Amino acid sequence: MVPHVLAVANQKGGVGKTTTTINVGSALAVMGRRVLVVDIDPQANATSGLGVDRSAVETTSYDVMIGGRPIADARISTVVEGLDLVPADLSLAGAEIEMIELPMRERRLALAVEAVDDVDYVLIDCPPSLGLLTVNAAVAAQALLVPIQCEFYALEGLGLLTHTLALLRRELNPGLRIAGIVMTLFDGRLALAHQVVDEVRARFADDLLSPLIPRNVRLSEAPSHGVPVDLYDPTCRGAVAYAELAANLDARLAGQARPVHAGAGVGAGR
Ligand code: ADP
Ligand code: MG
Repeated sequence: MVPHVLAVANQKGGVGKTTTTINVGSALAVMGRRVLVVDIDPQANATSGLGVDRSAVETTSYDVMIGGRPIADARISTVVEGLDLVPADLSLAGAEIEMIELPMRERRLALAVEAVDDVDYVLIDCPPSLGLLTVNAAVAAQALLVPIQCEFYALEGLGLLTHTLALLRRELNPGLRIAGIVMTLFDGRLALAHQVVDEVRARFADDLLSPLIPRNVRLSEAPSHGVPVDLYDPTCRGAVAYAELAANLDARLAGQARPVHAGAGVGAGR
């Protein structure tokens, strides 16, 4: 079975990529889907947020992408039943430089992910940049899941997103789609937050996932306990919102054609 491979990407930091990866992943697992989270951010926040001590892991996404190790070697289970993790560690910080010299530098993650056939979802937590790591995720993925923070500068990022998406499609992954846009850190008391949502809805109506994810302190507390929010406080607003969003995403993807493997084979000379 070919999983849905989604890159959780936005070149900005602090917009909720990692929070979305962990909590959508966990909510999907609670629904009975099998999920593999792949952490490719040197900061390894998804790794620690899923209760894994990054200094204790032996094999990481670095070894997979740079060393060519099979992804199964790096895969570990987590506190969430049905959710496995390929952890990251700090060695990834130099990976973008090291990758430049390697063959098929944009497709290293895609080749590794092709071997994963026992999950429904692979969620790749990207670093806050559009460097080679994020490019690898976008080539491995069939679609991008894009968290956008409900604030003014979010709109600038959108222009960049459409531009980057066009570029990625043209050069590396013609089939790349948007799985959905997740509006994060929504504070309904702020007029600006409503304006941003309205603007995103006007431009990307079809891709905007519901519901909006509220600013919720429980979401920011859960990672320090090493658990997704639904294990920390399953009834808080953040947990309820992510559960609903994951269900909507799952239904949306189920309505589309079964995925085929993304860019790995295209022009890769294999
Ligand atoms: P990114 O991965 O894009 O850098 P994070 O998911 O790490 O962003 O989020 C940045 C910070 O904001 C983290 O401290 C996180 O706990 C917090 N955060 C993210 N989403 C929410 C939310 N909806 N409510 C409250 N805090 C949040
Ligand atoms: Mg992050």
